[in-house]
Amino acid sequence: MTLPSLNDIVSCISGYDPHAMTVERAQAVIREFIHPIEAVEKLPIRSALSRVLAQDIVSRIDVPAHDNSAMDGYALRGEDLAEGRELRLQIIGEVHAGDRFTGQVGPGQCVRIMTGAPMPAGCDTVIPQELTVDADQSAVTVPPGRVRAGDNRRLRGEDLALGSVALPRGRILRPSDIGLLASLGLAEAPVQRRLRVAFFSTGDELRSVGEPLDEGCVYDSNRYTLHGMLTRLGCEVLDMGVVPDDPAALEAAFRSACEEADAVITSGGVSVGAADYTKQIMASLGEMAFWKIAMRPGRPLAFGRIRSRGREAYLFGLPGNPVAVTVSFSFFVRDALLRLAGAEAKPLPRLRVKTATAIRKKAGRTEYQRGILAPDDSGNWSVRLTGMQGSGILRSMSDANCIIELEHDRGDVAAGEEVAVVLFDGLV
Ligand code: AMP
Ligand code: MG
Repeated sequence: MTLPSLNDIVSCISGYDPHAMTVERAQAVIREFIHPIEAVEKLPIRSALSRVLAQDIVSRIDVPAHDNSAMDGYALRGEDLAEGRELRLQIIGEVHAGDRFTGQVGPGQCVRIMTGAPMPAGCDTVIPQELTVDADQSAVTVPPGRVRAGDNRRLRGEDLALGSVALPRGRILRPSDIGLLASLGLAEAPVQRRLRVAFFSTGDELRSVGEPLDEGCVYDSNRYTLHGMLTRLGCEVLDMGVVPDDPAALEAAFRSACEEADAVITSGGVSVGAADYTKQIMASLGEMAFWKIAMRPGRPLAFGRIRSRGREAYLFGLPGNPVAVTVSFSFFVRDALLRLAGAEAKPLPRLRVKTATAIRKKAGRTEYQRGILAPDDSGNWSVRLTGMQGSGILRSMSDANCIIELEHDRGDVAAGEEVAVVLFDGLV
């Protein structure tokens, strides 16, 4: 199969202008250009946590395997219940979870039953024991109006029916999915192999932690942020350090990253600075687009596919500013890597909440401001900005628990208006 070139894809966009890309358009081009890897491995289900399921899992059993009781109580025949009348039932046996009651339950009879125990033949209803009265060893009374036919019975296959898709391919497996695989009796699951992602920082001014900070220099933080984001995304990471603004060193770094990894992420050097050879070298190694995106932060973005010695890798050249790196990663790279990994493409959930503070916003670009979502004094949740929002101020991201996404066409936002937020964290 021949994959479309980047040029094929952008040439279909009417009025394509690399200097005026909207966020949505850039996302769509990336999504179309990325082709998922196909490499499956079988893993014990516990090791499959957070991995991408490679095939549909079809249930080979009914879960639960029998109609069973949802309560501790008495299994009875629903037809014995009569409106407005008390019912006295003879207790003819007892059944626990894991047992079976083999007798026949006739009119006016019941079986004492525990939660999870199979329903005795003929019974379709369970009355919880706390709703009964006058129970002794041999009989129990069901007062009128406490239970209807069919109550408190779990149906065979109601959780997972034989032959149905229990989990779809592409699912990123969560703890409950692992439990669900176990409930089907499966010891192993087919998952996509992990993505290998290489990354490095570019810039003569960058120093790595542990080195002295020379005059005019800054510590490289992007590699650490990227390491964290890639690790959380489940990638195998290849940290290639800091590469100076030197053409030979850059070319060597891009080549070796490309030969080792499925995707390469760099930061810095894609704006218009004088020492930025990065773009030339990227372009010489493959098919690259250099975009100016109508967004803030994160305006410049390089995207494409490079080749070296017969190997290919997708390349994301992110801007150097630390907040821009996080935002570009979150709204372009994350989705692209998930797609590359074969994961189902789902938009990040957005909440719409009121902003407690007014927000300055320019129409004509998407803005990603750092926010804190918290309850106010009356218990209503609203969002406010974390202090200064400059794209170099990494603390704005660190202090935040969400990103406020302000749409392209929107202008200034007044306090009390609704805005969309994307949360950083959720349940396990
Ligand atoms: P650039 O995109 O290379 O022009 O860099 C833009 C800004 O981001 C400059 O102030 C850089 O010093 C800063 N910067 C670039 N890379 C990093 C990094 N890895 N860690 C921290 N700051 C960076
Ligand atoms: Mg630079």
